[in-house]
Amino acid sequence: MSKYIFVVGVVMYGVGKGTACASIGKILQSKGLRVTALKIDPYINVDAGTMNPVEHGEVFVTDDGDETDQDIGTYERFLDTTISSVNYMTTGRVYQTVIERERNLEYGGKCVEVVPHVPDEVIRRIRLAAKRARADVTLIEVGGTVGEYQNILFLEAARMMKLAAPREVLFVLVSYLPIPGNLGEMKTKPTQYASRTLNSAGIQADIVIARAERPLDEPRRRKLAMFCGVEEKDIISAPDVDSIYQVPLNFEKQRLAQRILDKLDIQARRKKDLRDWARMVRISELAKKKVRIGVIGKYFSTGDFILSDVYLSVIEALKHAAWFHKVKPELLWLNSEAYEKNPALLKELDELDGVVIPGGFGSRGVEGKIAAIQYVRTRKIPYLGLCYGMQMAVVEFARHVAGMPDANTAEIKPDVIQPVIHIMSEQEKNMATKKYGGTMRLGAYPCVLHPQSRSRAAYGKRAISERHRHRYELNNKYRPLFEKKGLLIAGISPDQKLVEIIELPQHPFFVGTQFHPEFKSRPLAPHPLFREFIRVALKTAKNTANISRDSFMARRQGNT
Ligand code: GLN
Repeated sequence: MSKYIFVVGVVMYGVGKGTACASIGKILQSKGLRVTALKIDPYINVDAGTMNPVEHGEVFVTDDGDETDQDIGTYERFLDTTISSVNYMTTGRVYQTVIERERNLEYGGKCVEVVPHVPDEVIRRIRLAAKRARADVTLIEVGGTVGEYQNILFLEAARMMKLAAPREVLFVLVSYLPIPGNLGEMKTKPTQYASRTLNSAGIQADIVIARAERPLDEPRRRKLAMFCGVEEKDIISAPDVDSIYQVPLNFEKQRLAQRILDKLDIQARRKKDLRDWARMVRISELAKKKVRIGVIGKYFSTGDFILSDVYLSVIEALKHAAWFHKVKPELLWLNSEAYEKNPALLKELDELDGVVIPGGFGSRGVEGKIAAIQYVRTRKIPYLGLCYGMQMAVVEFARHVAGMPDANTAEIKPDVIQPVIHIMSEQEKNMATKKYGGTMRLGAYPCVLHPQSRSRAAYGKRAISERHRHRYELNNKYRPLFEKKGLLIAGISPDQKLVEIIELPQHPFFVGTQFHPEFKSRPLAPHPLFREFIRVALKTAKNTANISRDSFMARRQGNT
């Protein structure tokens, strides 16, 4: 039988609920407990696959092919487990099941109502996820903030679970305490109000996590305890940190895991600890030497703000790999459209140790990516292309090495004469019938590596499994020509039909993957391809210290 911890957020979005939830999981794991975590997204969307990434962030793909929220990725990285689709739900998904069941007469002729039938379905899913993971503790992160209309049914489900078994369910409130610049003082009032809003949903917080720029002091701790109705020692200070991986250590310092065990009446098991984790965090803090990597994409800006959330798993994978080599990752967000407007800007790539082009869709910024790939290929700058980044590398190779000036992907130009990347045959009917939701080639598929490839050496094995999210693929018609011109098909599906990895053996590091390796990188087990990419980037590193990150970006700003 699992115990349940609901994690809810207040005051604003982006307070770090996902990190808090994953960190609580981590410290409970360190007590020898089996932990799983769920994410609830209040949207009507059935999954995250159809949402604009700039609005929603990364679409994280699970082994079993679900298109989920980026927090699922955070859980996988912190808990070092594989999380499946039962651990992700949205309003759309819950309603879909209720309606289907009603159509199948599964409610036995009853009037099917929003309450209790919708919360009942939420509870069923939570319990199912707990059972599948055989979890001692199941964490449930409720998306959105308390007080908004969208997540009220999920809070109702939580309340019902607590009512049914008070010793089994715990509520963690993740709040934010602003320090307005003109006052210079940390303010508790928004949290006080938020706690009352939670009360009006019939829920009393057991633990409050006080996110803020700075640590919480004693007077404010007392005030929060008093007004939120929580013991002082259950108010956890959670100041900003350089790396999210520090958060479990901060929680553990405040003995949060023990408090949770006491409250839920659970015994710690066979003692594990956070020693390896702490070592990794120390390296991330102490590393002096840098590796400078450019991430070339297009989903970066909203209004005046730069957002890199869309590429979260890529960023984390780069960090893991850099720390493995005991260096500090210095990541630069480079919008590819800038290279279309000003090709002379490509020269800036000389100042990078490596370039990554992550996944993407559509035509915006694509020619800039192709120009950047040509540049790094000819200038021998380490390159890692992920999904679209691999497809664009194939287009570039076709145009400039294989003598096919009109080559392109059919995604951008459906009537292209030389469709070196074309739609997968099983995808054609989806597109023709406008079936876009959840229909890409999704999730884990096996791949076999070429014995002489760089990838084979990196993985240290012949057969691998990686996660996918695409509709297009390398057109096999052109394979013989590409191979003749020096492209190595380094990874392929077991039936030899789908090209999964391309490499240029003459280049220090030029690897493109049809899959998304970033989803499987873990802080203590960096992904082999990222690990190798960074190793070569360090080996071939030029004098990047000549120009600081800030002046690099400022110069770029001036040139675009
Ligand atoms: N747009 C490309 C495809 O659908 C690549 C997708 C991706 O990068 N995830 O095949």
